[in-house]
Amino acid sequence: MPEPKILIHGGAWDIPPGLHNDHLQGITTALEAGLRALRSGMNATGIVKTVISELENNPVFDAGYGSFLNEAGEVEMDAGIMSGTDLSVGAVAAIRNVAHPILVADHIRLNTQHCLLAGSGAAEYAFRNGFERVETIDLLTDREKKLYAHLKSRNHLRIKSFFELRKTGRDTVGAAVLDRDGNFAAGTSTGGTPLKMSGRVGDSPLPGAGYYADNRFGAVSVTGWGEGIMRVLLAKKVIDLISAGQSADHAAGNAIRDLHERVQGDAGLIAVDKNGRIGVAYNTPFMAFGLADSSGIIETGIDNKSLRIEF
Ligand code: ASP
Repeated sequence: MPEPKILIHGGAWDIPPGLHNDHLQGITTALEAGLRALRSGMNATGIVKTVISELENNPVFDAGYGSFLNEAGEVEMDAGIMSGTDLSVGAVAAIRNVAHPILVADHIRLNTQHCLLAGSGAAEYAFRNGFERVETIDLLTDREKKLYAHLKSRNHLRIKSFFELRKTGRDTVGAAVLDRDGNFAAGTSTGGTPLKMSGRVGDSPLPGAGYYADNRFGAVSVTGWGEGIMRVLLAKKVIDLISAGQSADHAAGNAIRDLHERVQGDAGLIAVDKNGRIGVAYNTPFMAFGLADSSGIIETGIDNKSLRIEF
């Protein structure tokens, strides 16, 4: 059986050089938490929740605290988690007023007959089940308030351009995990895109689009332009390529190429396959990512030059 792997990302976009260290530090801190969880015997979904919660706490990333504001000045978040053991899924879409959408998503996976709750129904479910209500202001950073004011003053905003060159922002977080029993899990959490319409839902809470896990093949988490990702079901595409015999590395690269060819999409993804091989691919200028294995070694990368992982 392959050794356990914890692979995470902190978004794919044109991350300004001044923010590279903050991203890599955030990735490292989350992987340290993941390693502690792995050593304590936690299973794959537990590790996914641990690392994503850590990233949701970190305002560097566009998930939980630090999320973008939508056009109405609200924080609406999407998240999803999937177990490769039984293909169970839990997800929330356009949820407000919670600090950890990924934990609400997993609660839905474990305790309801549904896969995805949206909007006020998702928030009410969370509060009924003991999740603390937080106000929008508690999820906001000064930087986000300034960005909102700046973007609001412009006449037209092309959301897709945020994933292209020289744009500001933060980004989505995700994890793909293989645990010590050979089980896979994947998850993704996001505040979405800046100034999105109220009620807009991206790829991140949709299984097959923003994440996928199946013990027979592997686990995948995706970030990038959601309106393109959901049209090609990017995460499931990677799994299908692995099932056809490709390694995680090849499947990741081919899926990103296909996304670009079919819908001119910009995105990044991480994948672990059933042989424990790793895939990282993105067609944005940068993507923050990192890998931890059971030996305790943590590797992080943000561009091809700093990529030190043996694929
Ligand atoms: N995929 C996310 C969305 O479209 C954003 C991101 O990954 O940066 O909501």
